[in-house]
Formats: sequence, structure tokens, C-alpha cells
Amino acid sequence: MQEKGTISIHSENIFPVIKKFLYSDNEIFLRELVSNAVDATQKLRRLSSLGKYDGELGDSVIDVKLDKEAKTLTISDKGIGMTGEEIKKYINQIAFSGATEFMEKFKEAKDANEIIGRFGLGFYSAFMVANLVEIQSLSYQKDAEPAKWECDGSTTYKISEGNRTEIGTDIILHINEESEEFLEQARIQEILDKYAKFLPVPIRFGKRSTSEEDGKDEEGKPKYKTVEVDNFINNTSPAWTKAPSELKDEDYLAFYRELYPYSIDEPLFWIHLNVDYPFNLTGVLYFPKIKNELELQRNKIKLFSRQVFITDEVKDIVPEFLMLLHGVIDSPDIPLNVSRSYLQADSNVRKINSYITRKVADKLQEIYKSDRKEFESKWDDIGLFIKYGMLSDEKFAEKANDFCLLKNTDGKYFTFQEYYEKVKDIQADKDQNVVYLYTHDTAEQDSFITTAKSKGYDVLILDGPLDTHMAGYLEQHGGEKVQLKRVDADVIDKLIQKEETVELSISEEESKKINELFVKAIDRQDMNVSVEAMLDSEFPVSVTVDEFMRRMKDMAKTGGGGMGFYGEMPDNYKVTVNGNHPLVKRILEAKDEEGQKLAKQAFDLALLSRGLLKGSDLTSFVKRSVEMI
Ligand code: ADP
Repeated sequence: MQEKGTISIHSENIFPVIKKFLYSDNEIFLRELVSNAVDATQKLRRLSSLGKYDGELGDSVIDVKLDKEAKTLTISDKGIGMTGEEIKKYINQIAFSGATEFMEKFKEAKDANEIIGRFGLGFYSAFMVANLVEIQSLSYQKDAEPAKWECDGSTTYKISEGNRTEIGTDIILHINEESEEFLEQARIQEILDKYAKFLPVPIRFGKRSTSEEDGKDEEGKPKYKTVEVDNFINNTSPAWTKAPSELKDEDYLAFYRELYPYSIDEPLFWIHLNVDYPFNLTGVLYFPKIKNELELQRNKIKLFSRQVFITDEVKDIVPEFLMLLHGVIDSPDIPLNVSRSYLQADSNVRKINSYITRKVADKLQEIYKSDRKEFESKWDDIGLFIKYGMLSDEKFAEKANDFCLLKNTDGKYFTFQEYYEKVKDIQADKDQNVVYLYTHDTAEQDSFITTAKSKGYDVLILDGPLDTHMAGYLEQHGGEKVQLKRVDADVIDKLIQKEETVELSISEEESKKINELFVKAIDRQDMNVSVEAMLDSEFPVSVTVDEFMRRMKDMAKTGGGGMGFYGEMPDNYKVTVNGNHPLVKRILEAKDEEGQKLAKQAFDLALLSRGLLKGSDLTSFVKRSVEMI
């Protein structure tokens, strides 16, 4: 019995075209063929459990075998197999129909990516790497005859009697000349490790050597010998396929190590995803310790479809800010051959996106509620991630407003609500604005922090890369009439202006004189001098930088859109002279030259206290100080 036929596709030249498009990604042929073998194996198992197949299931291993001499790569399964008629139907018609459709769409498509993504080329992809493909199959059906199919990549095929004696299928690829890399052991191992690591049916790829204990030597120490063992590729039941109730913390941590063998840090915690309506999705997402280099931490989530690895570019499935998470997502509702334009348009993908966001917010809320201490202890590691989420995703922000924490200079943590309650009376100004004071560097701004605290005010630490944006966020969402001011944005009584004011103890004329004297002594364009009435216990001179301008500049630095203009502005400092300080009286009474010297000295001290005195200015300050003592 032998039969020849023609595959019904419209072009004779389809193979070169497809090869060209898929070339960059041609390793996926193995993913496709191994997935088919898994499907066939699972189908037979299902038939068996339904009582529709009563033969032996055996070990149902899938074997991948290389024969370098014959230049073949063979994928063998013990699945349901196919009769000759089925091969004609499934391979010649179904498998090739994808290709036919491909050719039709190809005529009008502009973008190669679009094409690759839209068609599950499946079995057909074998022709990317083989110039001859053979199928040897024996169907599970009673009295089925073994069948053989051959196709050399043209549109004709040959079907004849086969040689398989055991139920299942061999796909034999005669690797073509350009694809000889796929005859290399290491290359096949690499592809299997990438795509097949968590497939639900055991995959065996030849043998590997390992060492085994072999008795003891004279001193009683164990001896070892090298043995050949079956080289199994995969863990058939990875953590995400199990019920959360079956898993302990150790299991999640072990799975993390399995996913990222090179990772040094353990994850902080994890979320087990599990939905089956309105779409199907399972997975485990881990919260890593997030360092400040946001970029390096991305692209760590792996996407699977029924345990077949698809990609680790999950940009469109996972919300932008969750790209910092690690772990796996598995959904049969995401098509195998994902292309970007396809994903963006897919409504399941959008639902998945918002589901994941919600789950992550819920999990964080749950930890916050059940164990506030634990949550606080992890805050410094997860805070950046949560802030990122709040600034980029409104839905997430709505939930996170309840558990986002603020940390003050005493190391205490507060929710937005708690903090508002804490400071709303004492830090309200005369216009009922509630002023939150903050520092971005406790060491550099120590003198300002100390002054604020001496007034009974609290100071927040906002020192993260997103905290300039968070300052703006708090003004909008942190509570009624909240304003944020960095401690060095002005002198303290200007930052929080109260009704009662301090009187100036010098005359208006004297004040003018002091102002002129300081302008002359300082002699810098970027410093605006003013004389103010302050407590005589406060510093004689303060150098501050306006909140608004500084924040705009910071935003420009961290890439705020359209802020470039601010980025180029010079820093503009304000010099506030405390008109009530005894030093001011001394300067007024001193001779002109002596007064200048004192003013310059007081100004330099103000610069010094905020780390702005450098270079030759610092040297002359030190010289002058030595002279004066
Ligand atoms: P898909 O897997 O997306 O249906 P393929 O082109 O990969 O498309 O395969 C076409 C069909 O051929 C499959 O649906 C299946 O019925 C059949 N088939 C492919 N490989 C095997 C196999 N190893 N064992 C049994 N049937 C197979």
C-alpha cells in the first residue's frame, strides 16, 4: 500500500517564504513538536481515564533523540497516535491550513511580526529546519495499522505502511544544511531547558553522566564512579499547577530557586494566582527585593501556556509597574505565538492585566492588615514598587492609598491618614494649609531638621528616586489642603506661617542698611537677600532654595515630560538674614570693613551647614576663621 497526494495549498513557494519570516526564531519548531507530543500523551491519558482506552499507559515518556550520523532529530511520544487517514486529515489539511491562511494574509500584511504572531504554524514549523519530515505513527484505535508519512517540503507527500509497533508517534526531522546547529547536543538541551522545563509529561533527552557512590576506600571514605543516567528535562508539576493549600513557604522558595538559579536574594513574599473565570490563569508572582536600579530587575516574569514556555516579554500582559515582579504566569487563553499588536488588542489580555493588578493590591493590603509590623519591616524594600504603582496606575493607587506608608526622621511609619491626623493641627499655617515637612537627605539637612523639630514639627524622609513625584501625589491625595515643603525650602517660620508674628527689633532704615551690606559682602548673582523678623535663638543667616523651582528641576532630572526647561535653570538661593539676631546689631555697630567680614562669615556658615561651601570659598573661609579666633 502506498499513496501519493498533493497538499492543498496555493503556492509552490510557500516554504522559503515562511522560512524567511520565521528564521530568527526557528528554534520554536522544537517547542511546537514537543507540545504536540504532550497533547497526544494527555489525550490518551484522558481517554484511558474515561474508560475509552483499556490498553497499558506505560511510562508515557516523550523521547527526544539526536542521530548525528543520520542527521536526524526524532521526537517520540506514547500518545494517541494517528491512522493514515488521520494523518491526511490532521497533518495535510489542518496543519497546512494555517500555512495556507498565512500565505493569503501575507499578500496584504505589511509587518512581518504581525504575520508570525497571528499563525500557530505548529507542526508545519518543522520545515524551517528539515528538508524531509517523516511521521511514523500507530493509533490507539483497535486494529489500527501503523502508518508512515513523508514530505520533503514540497507540496507533495507520500503515505505508506509504517513500522511502529507501540502506540504513539515519531516525528523524524532530517535536518537541513543551514540548520545543523540543531544536531548539537548542547543546542537541543538549551532549547528544551527554555521551553520544556515545566511540561506536564516527562521529557527525556538521551543520557547524561553523573557521579554515584561506589563503596568505600581503605580509610572508609566514600568512593565515586561516573554513571550514565536518563537525562530528564522537566519538572512535570511545578508549584503554580498545585493548589495553594498544598504548598508551604519552603515549596514557594524552592520553586523560586528553580526559576532563578542565579539569584542571590530570596523573595520577600509571593502571590499565588488562580482564576478560571472569565479567563483561565494560574501563576506565582514573587516580590523581589527591589534595589534602586529599576531597569535591571525587569523582564523576570515568564509566560507559559499550559506549562509550555512562551516568552519572558510580558509587557502587555502585566501592567507596567508589575514588571518588577518575578515569577510565572500560565494562561491557555493567551495564544502561543504572541505578537505585540495581537496582545494589545486582545480583550482577555486586558482583563488579565487588571486582574493581576487587583490581586497584587489585595495581597499587599492583606499583609498590611494582618501583620503591620511585618509590613513595616519590608517597607523599605517594597515601598519603591508600591509608589511606582501608585504613580502609574490609578486603580492600584485607589487601594494603595490605604497602605502606602510614610516614614519620618524618627524611623516611625504612618499611613496617609495617620500622618494627616498627627500633624494637621500643629503644622497648619494661618491659611489652614497642612504643611508636611520633608528631607531628602537627613545628614545634609540636619540643621534644618533640628530647627523644625525644636518647633515641635515632624519631618518625613522622602529620599527615594520617585519621591519628588510622591510629594506632588501627597498634595493631591494625602489629605485636605496638604502642602509639601522640603525643610530647606525656606526658614521655618516661612515654611509654616502662623498668625502670630515676631516683631523686628531694628528700624526699617537699619534693615535696609543690613540688606545692602549683605548683598555687597556676598557678591553673588544667584543669592537673593532679605531681612526677616525671627526669634533671636534661630540662626543669623539661612540659605534656602525655593520648593517649587527645586521640585520642577528634580522632576526634569527624573524624566518628567516637558520639564526640560526647568532642568536648565540655575539653582536660585534665598538668603534670609535674621534681623533679631544679636550678630546683626554687632554688624550695625561695627566699622564698614569689619561689618562686611562678619556678614560674609555668617553667610559662609550658612552655606557650610548645608554643604554648599566648597573649593576656594571654603579655603578663604577657613583662613578668615583662623584670623578671627
Ligand atoms: P495544532 O497542534 O495547533 O492543532 P499542529 O499543526 O501542530 O496544530 O498539528 C495539527 C494536528 O496534528 C494536531 O491537532 C493533532 O491532531 C495532530 N498531531 C500533531 N502531532 C501529533 C502527535 N505527535 N500525535 C498525535 N497527533 C498529532
